[in-house]
Amino acid sequence: MDQSIKGTLFKSAFAGKCPRCGQGKLYKGFLKIADRCETCDLDYSFADSGDGPAVFVMMIVGFLAMGGVLYTEFSYEPPLWLLLLIWLPLTIGLCLAFLYWLKGALIAQQFFTNAMQGQTIGSQDNAAKDDQTE
Ligand SMILES: [Zn+2]
Repeated sequence: MDQSIKGTLFKSAFAGKCPRCGQGKLYKGFLKIADRCETCDLDYSFADSGDGPAVFVMMIVGFLAMGGVLYTEFSYEPPLWLLLLIWLPLTIGLCLAFLYWLKGALIAQQFFTNAMQGQTIGSQDNAAKDDQTE
């Protein structure tokens, strides 16, 4: 992978920056995608990460949290309230952090690979014909 693309991908993932210029904000809220880049005017309407980030978060954070809970339980045998006090906020925090990072990374990857919704050959032509007949 090209070094500049890799750098921009990491900026999009960890700093929430635009995948094209690496300067403007990708998000307008915590996880809500902005309409367009404030610096390079890139239209973010292509950006649709779908359920991708959530799936990765479930796999990664689920593995980390369950491993941590089991390790803590079998190594220190703390009371249940202490186990929950440690691992519940940590799991929620990890989920939110990973969602932010992975959503930015998947949108940047979508931008670089020009990925879009699956279509059959000629489906755009048929859609245009349907619009003309109606
Ligand atoms: Zn930009």
